[in-house]
Amino acid sequence: MSSGSAALENKAQQDEFNPFLSMARGFDTAADYLGLDEGLREVLRTPDRELKVALPVHMDDKSIKVFTGYRVQHNYLRGPCKGGIRFAPEVNLDEVRALSAWMTWKCSVVNIPFGGAKGGVICDPRAMSKGELEQLTRRYTAAIMDILGPDRDVPAPDMNTGEQTMAWIMDTYSMHVRRTTTSVVTGKPLSIGGSRGRREATGRGVMISANEALKIVGGRPEDTRVVVQGSGNVGGVAALLMHREGYKIVSLSDMYGSIHNADGLDVPAVMAYLEENGRLSGYPEAEALENSEQLELDCDLIVPAATENQITSANVDRIKARVVVEGANGPTTAIASEALVDRGVMVVPDILANAGGVTVSYFEWVQDRMGYFWTEEIVNSRLEQIMVESFKEVADTARKYKVSMRTGAYILAIDRVATVLRMRGLFA
Ligand code: GLU
Repeated sequence: MSSGSAALENKAQQDEFNPFLSMARGFDTAADYLGLDEGLREVLRTPDRELKVALPVHMDDKSIKVFTGYRVQHNYLRGPCKGGIRFAPEVNLDEVRALSAWMTWKCSVVNIPFGGAKGGVICDPRAMSKGELEQLTRRYTAAIMDILGPDRDVPAPDMNTGEQTMAWIMDTYSMHVRRTTTSVVTGKPLSIGGSRGRREATGRGVMISANEALKIVGGRPEDTRVVVQGSGNVGGVAALLMHREGYKIVSLSDMYGSIHNADGLDVPAVMAYLEENGRLSGYPEAEALENSEQLELDCDLIVPAATENQITSANVDRIKARVVVEGANGPTTAIASEALVDRGVMVVPDILANAGGVTVSYFEWVQDRMGYFWTEEIVNSRLEQIMVESFKEVADTARKYKVSMRTGAYILAIDRVATVLRMRGLFA
């Protein structure tokens, strides 16, 4: 191969793996179907605001380290911006941008009154103490404080952040505004304004999406062999709930490796093992696999619930499942997703399948503002109602336009935001 074509191939791969380009491809396809004019497209494609902040932190060894953080607000047309904050070494602006746009489309797909945002801090939380993480979180909150607020932008957990992180954000914000403001973040502990059912909400939404997908492609949970990539707040919870629903979970993974049992894993026992040992490897009732082999296992349904770019042009030909329910954001590249759909695989896109989390975040925000808290049954039944209805709207849109579920979801979402844009008009 000449170095020129190697460079081209490299560029093609970089483009395939760039989540913002992946998002833009989905957006453009849908915008074409909607016949959106160039001006509207440009408004809806462009993030409204991008903030980059330097975050100096006193480390435990007395050194000072300066971290970099971002908050991107993609679009606020339908309401305050909403979206998680992730702490990870790979965080970069293009990723945060893409994730913020996906939040706009996700909130629109499930028709909750929010725009989209996302935040990220470049750090390795596994190598940091709790004290260092607290300082980093508080400094980050203070740095982006001017653009936060219950009516402006409401963060939530994402990769490597959780209830404790949200509690620190709530406290830091409240100290600055001189009053306790629980509705500035969601995904908080129950004792300080969190919602019942929030922790399980993304996994529960994934399970509901899988149930709805089976109604279309046929089959019962009992006959459906499921591979779950990941075992954290999304994958672990989805696996537990789907196991309870009767699905046969044949494989789970974490960052160190995968486990597989063709007869089905005893998921509660696996999760107890993970809790005790900090990793899945060594779990006795299963064989160990490399993570690269997991998605290619013989199965009926895959839940990629780890991170972006897991099903790509490099492995898509070896995927055996007939349904993919995207628990993570952007786990399937645009090219791979199109290849799956061409083969008749049903891909339930992230902006629908994992929208259970932000839906219960919306419930949390509402409850905080009312100061009145709902039972878990109410939360779960309202979540189910929204997920089932949204799934149906996406499937109907896909049928109407004769497109994939992903394009159907983008069409539905973009149309709703474009309608608001036309009604509000441009401020000048
Ligand atoms: N980080 C989650 C997501 O990507 C939840 C966002 C939220 O609850 O605001 O959907």
